[in-house]
Amino acid sequence: MKLFRTFFQSDLRYFSTKKLLLDVDVNKIRNIGILAHIDAGKTTTTERMLFYSGTINQMGEVHHGNTVTDYMTQERERGITITSAAVTFFWRSHQFNLIDTPGHIDFTMEVEQSLNVLDGAVFILDASAGVEAQTLTVWRQADRYNLPRFIFLNKMDRTDASVEHCFHSIQQKLSVTPLCLQIPIKKGGKLSGLIDILTMEKLTFSNMKLAKIALTEREDCELWSETMLLRSNLVDKISEYNETLAEKIIKEESMDNIKTMDIVGAIREETLNQNIIPVVMGSAYKNIGIQALMDAVVLYLPGPGKRSEYYNCFEDNLCAKAFKITHNKQKGTLVFVKVHNGEINKGQKIYSTTQNKNELVGRLYTAFADDFHEVEKIKSGNIGVISGLKHTKMGDFLSNSASAVQKAKEKFLKTKKSVLDDAVEDLFENKVRIPEPVFFCAIEPESAAYQTALDNALMEMQRQDPSLRVTQNCETGQTVLGGMGELHLDIIKDRILKEYKVKAKLGELQINYHETLKEKTTDTLEFCTTIGGLVQKFTIRLSIFPTGEEEKKEILVFDRTQDAAKNISAIYHKHLSAIRNGVEAALANGPRISCKVSNVQVMLHFFAVEKGTSESVITAGTTQLIQKMLQQQGTDILEPVMNIEIVIPSDYLSPLLADLSRRRSTVEEISMRENVKVVRANTPLSELQGYATIIRTLSSGTATFSMEFYKYRKMSPIDEEIAIRSVRGF
Ligand code: GDP
Ligand code: MG
Repeated sequence: MKLFRTFFQSDLRYFSTKKLLLDVDVNKIRNIGILAHIDAGKTTTTERMLFYSGTINQMGEVHHGNTVTDYMTQERERGITITSAAVTFFWRSHQFNLIDTPGHIDFTMEVEQSLNVLDGAVFILDASAGVEAQTLTVWRQADRYNLPRFIFLNKMDRTDASVEHCFHSIQQKLSVTPLCLQIPIKKGGKLSGLIDILTMEKLTFSNMKLAKIALTEREDCELWSETMLLRSNLVDKISEYNETLAEKIIKEESMDNIKTMDIVGAIREETLNQNIIPVVMGSAYKNIGIQALMDAVVLYLPGPGKRSEYYNCFEDNLCAKAFKITHNKQKGTLVFVKVHNGEINKGQKIYSTTQNKNELVGRLYTAFADDFHEVEKIKSGNIGVISGLKHTKMGDFLSNSASAVQKAKEKFLKTKKSVLDDAVEDLFENKVRIPEPVFFCAIEPESAAYQTALDNALMEMQRQDPSLRVTQNCETGQTVLGGMGELHLDIIKDRILKEYKVKAKLGELQINYHETLKEKTTDTLEFCTTIGGLVQKFTIRLSIFPTGEEEKKEILVFDRTQDAAKNISAIYHKHLSAIRNGVEAALANGPRISCKVSNVQVMLHFFAVEKGTSESVITAGTTQLIQKMLQQQGTDILEPVMNIEIVIPSDYLSPLLADLSRRRSTVEEISMRENVKVVRANTPLSELQGYATIIRTLSSGTATFSMEFYKYRKMSPIDEEIAIRSVRGF
């Protein structure tokens, strides 16, 4: 309750010195993300928050290419956010560590890593569009991390903005209970301010300054009674969830006598419990509602305390997550971390669990986008930046030493209950979720002199972005890049040229097809040979079977029948690893077009080995056996299929549908939104190359389009032929 009391007493003075508050109480830290569909206004809103918090004294605009958080050349040129930016600022004596995430699906790994370090999120909706496709995707991602959140309806200045439509789409599409905390004031059709329903105040924002004027019954008559009614409804609604508030209402015998402080407390509690979603609104572009938005972050989103509890098993030791890596001309490689437990000190030795390597911390910083402020330590709950690390990659966990991690793991396993989330489990299993690339293309330096520079550039970029895959094609010897989409690979190419100054050519973009087994098959290999006078002998029996449209987590499984289980339980660990490596190698290159074999499982039935047989012989034998089985049984080709959503004026609907059907699409749903149709469909990725341009032409620039990966699917024999020709090039 103290929080709210000081909050309401403090004035609107904000803090302009970055240094002033670097040692804030952990409860006053807000690690938040701004999540939204592309173009909803994330970057513009962030820029406004930086301005009002006094961090910057001039506002940039996305279309001028001068915002703080879109600082990469590629971002400024294209007016989009590519890498997540972390900025720290202060508002009402709270430290905000804000992460402006990229909206485009090509950068989904960045979003995923950022979500991992947040304690709460602000969802921005374009009030003229409501909940859009990408909003839904990131909403579900936030669900997986259990993030408390609220919604900001942006672009309320637009004439087609509709609070009603937004609420309807929030309820329908997100299946949550929105709670309206404000209403817009419009003068002559123009947005001039907001009404705060809780405090019954008029908020105006002229000359970039917020003014609050209490509504009075005498002067505001109708507006006053309307707001009074909204307030009672609001109190009524929260009291359905919040017992403390319900009891207060009974005691006071009226909803109108309930103190604002008590309502705020109840909203906070139920937001943290994720029973309700508060909704505030405004216009970032017109500087309306931003201060109130920041107040809502303080009041309704949590500090890091609750989430840190998951990492209690580390006791006094460090547990931190590297969620972003960038390269700075002066400072070298910078690793952004969230400290979940313990603290990091300047110059200390740390251990990267994922890389299994010790590292030396150089300097520590707090980040103000691409500007940095040096600090002595980063404490539990906070986000900061480390320089000097040589091996750590995006997604890695950091601790003090291997033994500290081992100790924590033992404690974790002992106390493991439902309270511990996936992230902690992933930590100990050494897993970083890296999405599957759907596109690839060959890359080669313009002359051999650039080869080393190219290799180094790719290595550095992979450290920053593990969703960029770099492999060698064994047949052609070419370097092949795998990526999440056209834009992803385009940006990589741009950075190689401009940032690393390496002259390189990129081949044509290719779809990442997969192969899958037609039918189950079982076979045995009895291997015997003599190498350098040593007998190498083993027997292995395996089956492979297709798993349908599902990609299974475990590729190698074990026969659980009694006889088999007895044999398998006696296999040495090193031999199992050798078999697993053999399986993985065989499935990396299918027999038809050398693509990854997916949606299959391999079952081990029997294994026996002569003493002295080397592991590499077992691996090679296993690979050979599986390749032979795949060859004999035959494979089908799988293609990536995307979920797409197109928003288009009704007039263009029939040409759009005709075009979609030519692109082998299945239309899932056509719904109406104001004057536009929203079409949801599944379309093979191979039909979507350059689609953004095509749809622009088809709709005279009026349609918008977004897509995300759906699944790998079998193709018709004719389409298979086309795919094979495109891969082989003839
Ligand atoms: P992001 O993709 O979510 O980061 O969105 P941006 O901040 O880049 O904004 C996308 C576009 O919407 C830009 O042209 C902004 O100028 C514009 N925009 C942002 N906020 C508002 C707003 O409140 N009202 C209007 N009318 N336009 C806005
Ligand atoms: Mg942006």
